[in-house]
Amino acid sequence: MRDLLGGKGANLAEMNLIGVPVPPGFTITTEVCRLYNEQGREAVVAMIKEDVKKSIQHIENLTGNKFNDPSNPQLVSVRSGAPVSMPGMMDTVLNLGINDAVADTLAQKSGNPRFAWDSYRRFVQMYGDVVLGMKPTNKTDIDPFEAIIEDVKAKKGVKFDTELDVDDLKELVARFKAAVKENTGKDFPTDAYDQLWGAIYAVFDSWNNDRAILYRRMNQIPEEYGTAVNVQAMVYGNMGNNSATGVCFSRDAGTGENLFNGEYLINAQGEDVVAGVRTPQQIMTEGSRRWAQLQGISEEERAAKYPSLEEAMPECAAQLVDIQQKLENHYHDMQDMEFTIQDGKLWLLQTRNGKRTGAAMVKIAMDLLREGAIDEKTVIKRMEPGKLDELLHPVFDKAAVKKAKVMAKGLPASPGAATGQIVFFADDAEEWASRKKKVIMVRLETSPEDLRGMSVAQGILTARGGMTSHAAVVARGMGKCCVSGAGEIKVDYKARTVMMGEKTYKEGDWISINGSTGEVYDGLVATVDADLSGDFAAVMNLAEKYSKMDVYTNADSPRDASVARKLGAHGIGLCRTEHMFFEGDRIKAMREMIIAPDEPSRRIALGKLLPLQRGDFEGIFEAMDGYEVTIRLLDPPLHEFVPHQLETMRELAEQTGRTLEEVKLVCDGLEEFNPMLGHRGCRLGNTYPEITEMQARAIIEAALNVKAKGVDVHPKIMVPLIGVKAEIQMQADIINATAQKVFAERGDTVAYKVGTMIEIPRAALVADQIAQVVDFFSFGTNDLTQMTFGYSRDDAGKFLAVYKNLGILKVDPFEVLDQEGVGQLVEMATRKGRATKPELNVGICGEHGGEPSSVKFCASLGMNYVSCSPYRVPIARLAAAQAAVEE
Ligand code: ADP
Ligand code: MG
Ligand code: MG
Repeated sequence: MRDLLGGKGANLAEMNLIGVPVPPGFTITTEVCRLYNEQGREAVVAMIKEDVKKSIQHIENLTGNKFNDPSNPQLVSVRSGAPVSMPGMMDTVLNLGINDAVADTLAQKSGNPRFAWDSYRRFVQMYGDVVLGMKPTNKTDIDPFEAIIEDVKAKKGVKFDTELDVDDLKELVARFKAAVKENTGKDFPTDAYDQLWGAIYAVFDSWNNDRAILYRRMNQIPEEYGTAVNVQAMVYGNMGNNSATGVCFSRDAGTGENLFNGEYLINAQGEDVVAGVRTPQQIMTEGSRRWAQLQGISEEERAAKYPSLEEAMPECAAQLVDIQQKLENHYHDMQDMEFTIQDGKLWLLQTRNGKRTGAAMVKIAMDLLREGAIDEKTVIKRMEPGKLDELLHPVFDKAAVKKAKVMAKGLPASPGAATGQIVFFADDAEEWASRKKKVIMVRLETSPEDLRGMSVAQGILTARGGMTSHAAVVARGMGKCCVSGAGEIKVDYKARTVMMGEKTYKEGDWISINGSTGEVYDGLVATVDADLSGDFAAVMNLAEKYSKMDVYTNADSPRDASVARKLGAHGIGLCRTEHMFFEGDRIKAMREMIIAPDEPSRRIALGKLLPLQRGDFEGIFEAMDGYEVTIRLLDPPLHEFVPHQLETMRELAEQTGRTLEEVKLVCDGLEEFNPMLGHRGCRLGNTYPEITEMQARAIIEAALNVKAKGVDVHPKIMVPLIGVKAEIQMQADIINATAQKVFAERGDTVAYKVGTMIEIPRAALVADQIAQVVDFFSFGTNDLTQMTFGYSRDDAGKFLAVYKNLGILKVDPFEVLDQEGVGQLVEMATRKGRATKPELNVGICGEHGGEPSSVKFCASLGMNYVSCSPYRVPIARLAAAQAAVEE
């Protein structure tokens, strides 16, 4: 149903079925949108024209009014609605069907001419922007209609739209139409059906507008889905002081607290609440009091100026409380609802599962579990693994925050801590972020055009708008820290400054914002690590309970290892040894080894490295007491380790007692045209067996040393870049011989495993042979992707972005495992390997090990584990659990 009707249409139909008051309407399916994109307008009109007419008649029968009839007019809204919610991304037109004659009738019938002309001017504006393409595309241009409104307000000396009278509104309509004529060269359409078709086309077209495309990319929503079009009888929240419109949530979308909350505006329509034009009021009195406290508004002022809906329209509020409960019970999830009150009668216009922060996602799911509304498996399915990331991020240090200077206060729109440099425009945010700068976007309010900027900013601060403003909703969806509606700050886009208190901040100045309290601080405020107990731990325990595949981590140091362990890693799947050679003076011994002219001198240099490596391994083994530690032998080309500057070459010459010329000759000789495909990986160990020998010795000795201290140690030795069976055979022989030697020397033994990375396509093809030699496979999907696609990871940036834009590639294959191509190699190698050796242990250690869809793919192949960077461990654990419960 949802696929055909879109989320909005399906839920409107469902609400109607369970007895929630919904204005009558109909839905044109997403199938028609696909057809529209393929075959164009005429084909679609020919196909659905009669159906649309009939459906309009159905609305007419229910309301007793007539569409396109000035004597008894019915107005409708035309709304987009995709199968998955894309809030604010596509377009909607309200009050459609109005013209001069209709406005006169509406004025007469309602006895409220202001309402009629307010609806009319809104329609012309929306239709002009959405259907006739009058919306400005440049960030500094202002909407031509807004410019006219500002002009009329200024002439009159008023601040709010509500202060305009009927004559002002008539003037607006006239000037709007003139602007349309001037811009488009055509008269504004007066026939209701002409208007309707224009709006239908516009909704279909909006599926392919820039912000919708971007949103789909960011949220991995398929291009093919298409949007449905909902045509619905209008209900009017702008009919006077007994009418209102609002947005509400059955639970707190920021914190997850089980508290019905929301905002509304009297005598308003549609997006007024979220647009941040007037200050919205709270629905519940409890929420209203909390809000007033945050804003520093006294109880008297609050009750007089900003009463809750509970206080202002108690019957509607009570009905709304019942409905939100009913909807939550029906959908078993937190609901985000839109409603309108027309002359004291409540109508629901939308419900959907609400967007929420990572913290709210975890709390709401666990609360629903405790309430008995959902079961454990549903908790796991409900998690968006990527969102857990937010919970792992730092929060402000308590002591630092106490000392911090509060410059302004707004609403705690999306929790978290953010510190960064001020920027005012989305494109600047992008540009600064691309230079690795941390930015906070400061705006009067945000709109969908700001999406790109928001996605790269640390946090968002707005002067206007409430808890349901665009900035707040989008930030919560992204899990970004946001403070909205900080009324005292003065943003000047032209000068690129923002004034807070007495201080004027320029673009580039540092501020910190607290999305949990709404406070804005001067400068940089220190942060501390997040708390991983409570509901987060509970969800992780559930993941543990259901997943069948283990999660390891990629860690090169005891510190990383213990962080990952705290986050739930059950072993190390990749410990790179090369980083260890750069620390302090070690590089000197390493260079000495590399330029050694013969084996004996190489052995001397290796002898210096041995104790250093052994010490590193001991630390890691201790941190991973009880768990497997997979150590990869030296992998990068030697050229990466030698000096490139004459000065350092000279030092090396002195250190080793050789001439500068000799050193230079060796270093230059190591240079390769294509180092990634050059002398690296097991090719090093096979040409210089003493390197493998030293590393194997360091690993085994370290294992014996910590074993003697009582550590439960499980070393796995991993050989990189195998393509031919003989390569791994030779390495395994060296490792095993060395281990036997050390065991004999020490009079003690320790169990160890020898395995290989599968990262060269050839290795995948002959995996059955390779499995004869090893205990385990670990897919190095970074190199495997690089070599399967033939894309250099270091150079692909240039064309991958273009490829994604052109749709040649849907995602970056270095981020998301290419299941179709590279995945075949992974599947085949796993199958062939296990055919040779059924007990073969199989895992993956590329970047993909922490990417949810790739983790699920690995689980589907029956891998033993995935290994990822420490902070992605919880994400991988959840994805693994999801794979198990979705099976
Ligand atoms: P979006 O998908 O961006 O939320 P909507 O289609 O929900 O867009 O519509 C935008 C606004 O117009 C919402 O506030 C909605 O409640 C309001 N609206 C839509 N249809 C009607 C209607 N028939 N009567 C009154 N208000 C409506
Ligand atoms: Mg909506
Ligand atoms: Mg590799």
